[in-house]
Amino acid sequence: MQRVDTDLVIIGAGPAGLTAAQYGARANLRTTLIEEMAIGGQSLLIDHLENYPGYVEPRSGFDLAQDMYRQAEKFGAQFLNDSVTALRKENDIFVISLGSGNTLTAYAVVLATGAKHRTLDVPGEAEFSGRGVSYCATCDGPFFKGKKMFVVGGGDAACDEAQFLSKLSDQIVMVHRRDRFRAQKALAERVLHNPAIQVRFNHRIVEIKGDTKVRSVVLENLLTGERYEEATEAVFIFVGSIPQTALVPEAEKDEAGYIITDQRMESSIKGLFVAGDVRATPFRQVVVAAGEGAIAAHSAAQYIDELKGEAYR
Ligand SMILES: Cc1cc2nc3c(=O)[nH]c(=O)nc-3n(C[C@H](O)[C@H](O)[C@H](O)COP(=O)(O)OP(=O)(O)OC[C@H]3O[C@@H](n4cnc5c(N)ncnc54)[C@H](O)[C@@H]3O)c2cc1C
Repeated sequence: MQRVDTDLVIIGAGPAGLTAAQYGARANLRTTLIEEMAIGGQSLLIDHLENYPGYVEPRSGFDLAQDMYRQAEKFGAQFLNDSVTALRKENDIFVISLGSGNTLTAYAVVLATGAKHRTLDVPGEAEFSGRGVSYCATCDGPFFKGKKMFVVGGGDAACDEAQFLSKLSDQIVMVHRRDRFRAQKALAERVLHNPAIQVRFNHRIVEIKGDTKVRSVVLENLLTGERYEEATEAVFIFVGSIPQTALVPEAEKDEAGYIITDQRMESSIKGLFVAGDVRATPFRQVVVAAGEGAIAAHSAAQYIDELKGEAYR
């Protein structure tokens, strides 16, 4: 069998990749974790992570990611601060090209590149991100308990998150640019019958205003063209997310572009396992990403054993 540089390559050091690295190293695989930005991925944006099991008091996503990293390193995972620019399979071996110009070979790959939320691209959105503008109701909703909150979007995520926020406040305003939701019917019906949620179809937010934090939004009625300003401290934006799948254009995906796997986290490409937000999964959270990372690494270890066994037969 062809000699490779490392047994398992994990792309992305968010919660999914960090957990996969720990499980890969503990399975005695030569494990290389590659991250192009900072250790922690999107979890670095979480100031108060209060829903990760085992921590009674909230901690920052940064602290949790650092601990996950130290744990993986303790078991022998190697870390590379580099960008994966291309991934291809030659016979049974993956060839991983890096931004630094180096190349790595491995028997199996865990893709844990996450997803990036879509933005509205209106004035004030970037400026007030984390100061009233949020892309995660479960995470930030509790900070605005009892207050008026705007929710932008009309899909499953927007309806789901509006329902969640309606448990925290009876002043939820949903803004959707179309005349109906595109969410599943049952979900949309629940929102429409929820007295805590006021739905404004044919509307969009054109500006988010504030000082040190959000103070108001400017809305536009798309039927009349009328613009008006309304006070609020919170704007939750759910207009879709963009899975980071550029490395594997040939992998099977769902209609939203997320990679489909079997229950072992294996994609349509043999030996390519996928975990976390980049995967077609019904719930995108740190605990889910970590769980999927564990399954992906465990399955990759079994796959490598089989590969080596077959090759030696
Ligand atoms: C503002 C915010 C608040 C949130 N709050 C909570 C919360 O309170 N509780 C909760 O459970 N969840 C929360 N989430 C969701 C949670 O952060 C994600 O579900 C989780 O981080 C997904 O982990 P992941 O490892 O799949 O992907 P990510 O965290 O997105 O990590 C992917 C990593 O891959 C790297 N990468 C991508 N492409 C490449 C490449 N080509 N080469 C090298 N590296 C690459 C990226 O740089 C990134 O570091 C929040 C999300 C956001 C945005």
